[in-house]
Amino acid sequence: MMYKVKKKFGVGRLIIKEQNHMKCTVCKENAVISLKRHNLKLCEKHFREHILCQTERVIKHFNMFKKDDSILLAVSGGKDSLGLWLILKELGFNVKALHIIMPFGEYSDKSLEMVKSCATKLNEDPIIIEANEYLEIDFFKALKIYKKPICSFCGKIKRYILSIYANKNSYNVISTGHNLDDETAFLLGNVLHWHTEYLNKQGPILESNQFMPRKVKPLIRITDEEMKFFADISKIGYVEEKCPHSRYAKSIFFKEILNEIDDQMPGTKAFFYLQYIKNIKGVFFQESNEKLKGCKICQYQTYNDDICFLCNIKSKMKRTENEH
Ligand code: AMP
Ligand code: ZN
Ligand code: ZN
Repeated sequence: MMYKVKKKFGVGRLIIKEQNHMKCTVCKENAVISLKRHNLKLCEKHFREHILCQTERVIKHFNMFKKDDSILLAVSGGKDSLGLWLILKELGFNVKALHIIMPFGEYSDKSLEMVKSCATKLNEDPIIIEANEYLEIDFFKALKIYKKPICSFCGKIKRYILSIYANKNSYNVISTGHNLDDETAFLLGNVLHWHTEYLNKQGPILESNQFMPRKVKPLIRITDEEMKFFADISKIGYVEEKCPHSRYAKSIFFKEILNEIDDQMPGTKAFFYLQYIKNIKGVFFQESNEKLKGCKICQYQTYNDDICFLCNIKSKMKRTENEH
């Protein structure tokens, strides 16, 4: 399905211009960006500082991790996760990047290329895992058995790999590059459909359990456009295209709608999300009483069955192979 938003206003949330009359709020030099939500105009140097400061504030506020934690950062090849790699390094955290190669042709090739070029720039050696090889499955065959949308399966597979890899290699935190726009789009979608089970789990931090390390999203105060500008001025190359399978995803439509609202009322997006986390989530949604178990085969977490979604798919695949 294709969703479309009529462009009525055409007002950017960010004004990225070198206007002589626009002065940096901090140093009074020429500003390159205006952040309406914060009522700030910033030069390049102070914009970088602002992004680092906003991220550090979130990490501290939610007690996400400290300097002695081992952080596994999931990098996709996009602006957010690659930008976050640079930010966490600059803030002095102990971070290792992991990229999962998905079987999506040219898009996956380009993603890997961007991860590698960022690694060279940061003088880092990322972990690269090929999903099919690591899981010993054929993604598209397994998807047919899973029967739900491809984006949901892809996300589940990536969370599985991250969790298993982190556990095996003693990482105690998993970080992703989800930003404010990702989170608000997800929140809006879940509120509109009252998907309470997702609302209950949504947030900047998902505490660890005996089968999974803590999961965190340090970029929840930063928008898509801000991260794009940050990656550009940091000279990080990144994949700009959307994944070919998510091009018409509902989340893209929700992001556009939320941006139109934010154009008219700057700050609404951040208010919507941060107030949800601060004041609403805890009141309406308590700890779930689903029974958490470890998969009997691979130890990954599962809620209802004795074996996890993946081992279940694998056993179904084996059964059909034997029947033929
Ligand atoms: P997306 O759902 O594509 O917007 O991705 C959200 C976050 O998931 C990214 O910021 C990354 O942290 C992580 N991620 C997505 N794709 C991959 C991948 N192929 N390998 C590792 N991490 C990924
Ligand atoms: Zn300045
Ligand atoms: Zn399993």
